[in-house]
Amino acid sequence: MMEKIFTPASMTKDDLAALQLAGLKWTVNHAYAGSEFYRNKLAEAGIRPDDIKTLDDLKRLPFTTSQDLQENYPYPLISVPFEDVVRMHASSGTTGKRKVLVYTAKDIDDWANMFARCYETAALTKTDRVQICVGYGVWTAGVGFQLGCERFGAFAIPAGPGNIDMQLQFLVDFQTTVICSTASMALLLAEEVQSRGLVDQINVKKVIFGAERSSDALMKKVKSLLGAEHIFDIPGLTEIYGPGTGLDCIHHEGIHYWPDYYILEILDPDTLEPVKDGEVGEMVYTTLKKEGTPMIRYRSRDLTRLIPGDCPCGSPFPRHDKIMGRSDDMFIVRGVNIYPSHIDEILSRQKGIGSEFQIHLDRLEDGKDYMTIKIEREEGGDAGNDHALAATIERTVRKEALVSGKVEIVAYQELPRTERKSKRVFDHRN
Ligand code: ZN
Repeated sequence: MMEKIFTPASMTKDDLAALQLAGLKWTVNHAYAGSEFYRNKLAEAGIRPDDIKTLDDLKRLPFTTSQDLQENYPYPLISVPFEDVVRMHASSGTTGKRKVLVYTAKDIDDWANMFARCYETAALTKTDRVQICVGYGVWTAGVGFQLGCERFGAFAIPAGPGNIDMQLQFLVDFQTTVICSTASMALLLAEEVQSRGLVDQINVKKVIFGAERSSDALMKKVKSLLGAEHIFDIPGLTEIYGPGTGLDCIHHEGIHYWPDYYILEILDPDTLEPVKDGEVGEMVYTTLKKEGTPMIRYRSRDLTRLIPGDCPCGSPFPRHDKIMGRSDDMFIVRGVNIYPSHIDEILSRQKGIGSEFQIHLDRLEDGKDYMTIKIEREEGGDAGNDHALAATIERTVRKEALVSGKVEIVAYQELPRTERKSKRVFDHRN
């Protein structure tokens, strides 16, 4: 087995706890000393840096939100003198002000190591040829993939996005072994490879998707069209350096993440208390080494769950599941938190139905909440099966989402289609 450089051979729970406590103390001290925003925020919560004595004290710290970043534009939460900043990146946010994050030389160095660890986790080697087909600019995508690739020591081909003819020529001429791109770009490339009959002339083994969520079906399609062996899905957010906060390994049983760089809490977005082991909640990040813009209990609004146990690959790093959607979309029925993306995920595994569905919430005279899920029958499906189908789905939803709901099967194409993201939840309560 190849020697790992960016992944420690082992990391005991005690080692990690000691490292996280030191990092947490450092971060709170650093933010308090360097940022007026954090100083005020900690003072409001009645906390001084010396109060952080155990990892449990993390719970006492106030949360940081995306609004905090936007309100303090253009240099929110900066915690170092400006002469120590070597770079900025900004999120590609569609509404309001961009979130600007600043990096010191050490931050860039740490990010490179984190990202190199991603390539190592995907089992790349130095002989891999990595075609980076994502955007280079103020956002973190292209630069991050590039930085990590060079730190890892593989061969980077900074192709950038678009320009399909050039991309295809690179795949053939440079014998690219790894493609890094958005899922939709990968699909476009894969379909062109197929339609131009280039499969036998290319040598793509792995594809790393970034920036947008992708379905299992899309992953399978890209994999088969390109004749690739593995598809990976890289998570990340500009607030926590950029892409590369973790990656799945070749076993694809969850995303390994880097607890030596940040503490990940999975919290109930409503109560902000930890969810039970293995339950879905919001990812809240506290960085342990970040200098330019440290993050203390940053509420990402992204949802996932932790995966218990050890991975067959033997990595010392813990795992979380794929990102399952946004906590802003959550609704509550009879005291249970429900995420439309979770329902979507459950339904996507059912046979006999189409992809369109609606969730209706009603409060009846008994004062109780009722959920009805309207789902389209699959194209050409037999209406005679509706009753049995609905009963099966009701059971699955009750088992997996922990809430009872009535399932109503409607005709194919009965639910409206829109160009934009379909509205899923119709709350008729109140
Ligand atoms: Zn693994």
